[in-house]
Amino acid sequence: MLYKFFMQKKIALIAHDNKKTEMANWVKTHTTVLSKHELYATGNTGKVLQTELGLKITCFKSGPMGGDQQVGAGIVNGEIDMVIFFWDPLSPHPHDVDVKALLRIAVVYNIPIACNKASADFIVHSTLM
Ligand code: PGA
Repeated sequence: MLYKFFMQKKIALIAHDNKKTEMANWVKTHTTVLSKHELYATGNTGKVLQTELGLKITCFKSGPMGGDQQVGAGIVNGEIDMVIFFWDPLSPHPHDVDVKALLRIAVVYNIPIACNKASADFIVHSTLM
Protein backbone atom coordinates (compact mmCIF):
# COMPACT_ATOMS: atom_id res chain seq x y z
CA MET A 1 0.00 0.00 0.00
CA LEU A 2 1.24 3.48 -0.83
CA TYR A 3 1.16 6.12 1.87
CA LYS A 4 1.67 9.74 1.10
CA PHE A 5 2.89 11.83 4.01
CA PHE A 6 2.61 15.53 4.30
CA MET A 7 4.94 17.08 6.79
CA GLN A 8 4.26 20.67 7.61
CA LYS A 9 7.51 22.61 7.69
CA LYS A 10 8.46 25.71 9.62
CA ILE A 11 9.90 28.03 7.01
CA ALA A 12 11.78 31.26 7.74
CA LEU A 13 11.70 33.97 5.08
CA ILE A 14 14.28 36.76 5.09
CA ALA A 15 15.03 39.39 2.45
CA HIS A 16 17.43 42.30 2.56
CA ASP A 17 15.93 45.63 1.52
CA ASN A 18 16.99 45.44 -2.16
CA LYS A 19 15.52 41.94 -2.34
CA LYS A 20 12.14 42.47 -0.68
CA THR A 21 10.25 42.94 -3.94
CA GLU A 22 11.85 39.79 -5.34
CA MET A 23 10.87 37.92 -2.17
CA ALA A 24 7.27 39.20 -2.31
CA ASN A 25 7.01 38.12 -5.97
CA TRP A 26 8.53 34.72 -5.18
CA VAL A 27 6.19 34.12 -2.25
CA LYS A 28 3.22 35.24 -4.36
CA THR A 29 4.18 32.73 -7.06
CA HIS A 30 4.37 29.93 -4.49
CA THR A 31 1.55 30.94 -2.14
CA THR A 32 -0.36 27.70 -2.67
CA VAL A 33 2.56 25.58 -1.48
CA LEU A 34 3.84 27.96 1.17
CA SER A 35 0.45 28.51 2.81
CA LYS A 36 0.38 24.81 3.75
CA HIS A 37 3.39 25.40 5.97
CA GLU A 38 4.09 27.50 9.04
CA LEU A 39 5.74 30.74 7.98
CA TYR A 40 8.17 32.90 9.92
CA ALA A 41 10.03 36.01 8.84
CA THR A 42 12.33 38.72 10.06
CA GLY A 43 10.43 41.90 10.99
CA ASN A 44 10.34 44.02 7.86
CA THR A 45 10.23 41.10 5.45
CA GLY A 46 7.26 39.75 7.38
CA LYS A 47 5.49 43.12 7.30
CA VAL A 48 5.89 43.37 3.52
CA LEU A 49 4.56 39.83 3.01
CA GLN A 50 1.64 40.34 5.39
CA THR A 51 0.68 43.66 3.83
CA GLU A 52 1.10 42.69 0.20
CA LEU A 53 -0.08 39.09 0.34
CA GLY A 54 -2.17 38.85 3.50
CA LEU A 55 -0.30 35.75 4.65
CA LYS A 56 -0.26 34.56 8.24
CA ILE A 57 3.36 34.95 9.31
CA THR A 58 5.03 34.97 12.70
CA CYS A 59 7.46 37.88 12.73
CA PHE A 60 10.77 38.01 14.52
CA LYS A 61 12.68 41.25 15.18
CA SER A 62 14.04 43.14 12.23
CA GLY A 63 17.26 41.61 10.88
CA PRO A 64 19.63 44.35 12.09
CA MET A 65 17.94 44.24 15.52
CA GLY A 66 18.56 40.51 16.01
CA GLY A 67 15.99 38.87 13.74
CA ASP A 68 18.61 36.81 11.91
CA GLN A 69 19.91 35.62 15.27
CA GLN A 70 16.38 34.64 16.29
CA VAL A 71 16.09 32.54 13.12
CA GLY A 72 19.46 30.97 13.99
CA ALA A 73 18.25 30.20 17.51
CA GLY A 74 15.10 28.69 16.00
CA ILE A 75 17.26 26.35 13.94
CA VAL A 76 19.28 25.34 17.02
CA ASN A 77 16.08 24.71 18.99
CA GLY A 78 14.52 22.63 16.21
CA GLU A 79 11.84 25.27 15.58
CA ILE A 80 12.87 26.23 12.03
CA ASP A 81 13.15 23.53 9.33
CA MET A 82 14.11 25.60 6.33
CA VAL A 83 15.28 29.11 5.41
CA ILE A 84 14.67 31.16 2.30
CA PHE A 85 17.12 34.04 2.57
CA PHE A 86 17.38 36.49 -0.29
CA TRP A 87 20.47 38.35 0.89
CA ASP A 88 22.01 41.19 -0.99
CA PRO A 89 25.66 40.54 -1.79
CA LEU A 90 26.12 43.99 -3.35
CA SER A 91 25.40 46.19 -0.33
CA PRO A 92 27.10 46.52 3.03
CA HIS A 93 25.02 45.60 6.08
CA PRO A 94 25.54 46.57 9.72
CA HIS A 95 24.61 43.02 10.74
CA ASP A 96 26.92 41.15 8.35
CA VAL A 97 28.23 39.05 11.21
CA ASP A 98 24.67 37.90 12.03
CA VAL A 99 24.14 36.91 8.40
CA LYS A 100 27.35 34.88 8.45
CA ALA A 101 26.35 33.26 11.75
CA LEU A 102 22.94 32.30 10.33
CA LEU A 103 24.47 30.74 7.22
CA ARG A 104 26.92 28.84 9.40
CA ILE A 105 24.34 27.50 11.84
CA ALA A 106 22.10 26.38 8.95
CA VAL A 107 25.00 24.31 7.60
CA VAL A 108 25.87 22.96 11.07
CA TYR A 109 22.28 21.73 11.54
CA ASN A 110 21.90 20.55 7.92
CA ILE A 111 18.97 22.91 7.29
CA PRO A 112 18.05 23.65 3.66
CA ILE A 113 18.82 27.32 3.05
CA ALA A 114 18.19 29.00 -0.28
CA CYS A 115 20.08 32.23 -0.84
CA ASN A 116 18.61 33.14 -4.20
CA LYS A 117 15.46 32.63 -6.24
CA ALA A 118 16.85 29.75 -8.32
CA SER A 119 17.71 27.74 -5.20
CA ALA A 120 14.39 28.63 -3.58
CA ASP A 121 12.58 27.36 -6.70
CA PHE A 122 14.40 24.03 -6.45
CA ILE A 123 13.51 23.69 -2.76
CA VAL A 124 9.84 24.58 -3.14
CA HIS A 125 9.45 22.10 -6.02
CA SER A 126 11.27 19.32 -4.21
CA THR A 127 9.35 16.13 -3.47
CA LEU A 128 10.94 16.40 -0.01
CA MET A 129 8.57 19.32 0.67
P1 PGA B 1 14.18 42.63 7.84
O1 PGA B 1 15.57 41.94 8.09
O2 PGA B 1 13.27 41.62 7.28
O3 PGA B 1 13.74 43.12 9.18
O4 PGA B 1 14.45 43.76 6.89
C1 PGA B 1 16.22 41.27 7.06
C2 PGA B 1 17.68 41.36 7.27
O5 PGA B 1 18.21 42.46 7.09
O6 PGA B 1 18.33 40.38 7.64
